[in-house]
Amino acid sequence: MQYKALYREHRPEIFSEILGQDHIVKILRNQIATDTVGHAYLFCGTRGTGKTTTARILAKALNCTDESGGEKPCGQCANCQAISNGSFMDVIEIDAASNNGVDNIRELRESVKYPPSIGRKKVYIIDEVHMLSTQAFNALLKTLEEPPENVVFIMATTDPQKLPQTVLSRCMRLDFKRVTADVIMGNMADICAGQGVEITDDALRLLAVNADGSVRDSLSLLEQCLSAGEKRLDRDTVLEFLGAVPEEFYLELTEKVLTHNISEALIMLNSALQEGKDVKQMMKDWMAHYRNLLITKYVKDPEDMLNMSQDNIVALADQSAKIELAQLNASITTLAKAINDARYSTQARILMEVVIVDLATGVEYGQPAGQARPARVMSTGSPAISMPARKSAPAQKPKATSQPDAGAKPSSAGADAGADQAQTVGNDAGSDVQPQTSAQPQTTAQPQTTADSAADLEDIWREAFEMGETVKPSLNTMRRAVLSEMNDKEFKVIVDSPVFKSLLEKDEQLICQLMEKQTGVRRRMVCKLKGQEADKDEDGKLDEMAQQATDVLGFNVEIK
Ligand SMILES: [Zn+2]
Repeated sequence: MQYKALYREHRPEIFSEILGQDHIVKILRNQIATDTVGHAYLFCGTRGTGKTTTARILAKALNCTDESGGEKPCGQCANCQAISNGSFMDVIEIDAASNNGVDNIRELRESVKYPPSIGRKKVYIIDEVHMLSTQAFNALLKTLEEPPENVVFIMATTDPQKLPQTVLSRCMRLDFKRVTADVIMGNMADICAGQGVEITDDALRLLAVNADGSVRDSLSLLEQCLSAGEKRLDRDTVLEFLGAVPEEFYLELTEKVLTHNISEALIMLNSALQEGKDVKQMMKDWMAHYRNLLITKYVKDPEDMLNMSQDNIVALADQSAKIELAQLNASITTLAKAINDARYSTQARILMEVVIVDLATGVEYGQPAGQARPARVMSTGSPAISMPARKSAPAQKPKATSQPDAGAKPSSAGADAGADQAQTVGNDAGSDVQPQTSAQPQTTAQPQTTADSAADLEDIWREAFEMGETVKPSLNTMRRAVLSEMNDKEFKVIVDSPVFKSLLEKDEQLICQLMEKQTGVRRRMVCKLKGQEADKDEDGKLDEMAQQATDVLGFNVEIK
């Protein structure tokens, strides 16, 4: 017996078997019953929603010879059977993707002139019609403008917006919906029952979610699971067969990040990688998930844009309601950056881990959007790095002002000016977090100069390591570090792991050369371990503040 794919074997043959397109079936049934079938149809919808299948059923209905008085098509008569197995001369299927030239359409126009040879109507089914060339469309248009008797065109497309208006206006357009998970699950359950296979509800749901509204995809996936001959399928078996990271995974991973649950998020990543998932693909899929959250949040009727089923959209909407816009934007930016970095990195896993940490710590979950701050991958503003500065920042002002007060009692305006300048210097030293106790409103953006210099440092470092990796691939260790500051003599990098610190220090000469190429100045590298740089950093800031105060007050100030 010839092997038949599951979706072919279970392809609907009559109107009542079409899944999840009741609105379309109703129209077509009515047109057949009242003999008001049009000359040209445009079937729109994503893949696997039944466009071609419905086109064939309509072709059968037009040529069915059943006289029993039942609904047409009967699916049993010779014509119905011939159309089903593709041997009916008057039903011509054209794949526009491979026959998109003007010659193909001219050929079609020639053949259109001849009346049907055995059937009542000649039916042309043009699949992927948006693939036609402009000239081919023009040629087709002439036929559509003067439709011959006894000819019906059924054009199917996943991209109706690519069709010329002139063609659209000549067709009756029917939009195929994604099939709901419930319908898909019911269909798969019937097929499993027919094959004596027991399948759990959550396994069915997992398949349906991954099929994402496409009956054909659901049956292809089910077929993979059935191919091993298992008589019982549960969720774990299905996951194993799919070898895919399901949408649910990203819903859950995002949930972990939203609740700052870094360790569980990292464990999820670890198990996925142990199962052989591709980390770069996961980054892309995760970013796609955030994009879906963004769309769900702001588009009222997101189904078309999202390319996924209603059930998935509901889950997405729940999650996106918990996230502020700024946080969504920041997360997408963070992932986009990491994906870009990962392209040339052999350490994509580390980048993904950094993303998880960054997203989980970057923006305060549930905070008003105005206070949210875009998280950045490995930037000088990386939250983990700026935390010590965040803590120490409020202390700066009292320290700077208390000393002069104890001395010559300068005017308070002068002391404030000194403190404010010291504050700015503190920010320049690597923190882009606005101190919560600052005199400036909390929602105000940080001073532009600070943002520029932080971004500049980030750019310099990025260009340095990108160049470095082409010279010596192991210099991708530089990605693990952040360039935090730079003066005439030295540049300071901060790294979060002792191992990477020693690796960087091994390559110090090379890194200094790379930095010299970037900046034109030869500098020494100072490599600090994250957390340990804070105290030293604070001392440096105090020195600078003392100098600022000295400049303003005109006498020496020491801050200890
Ligand atoms: Zn029939």
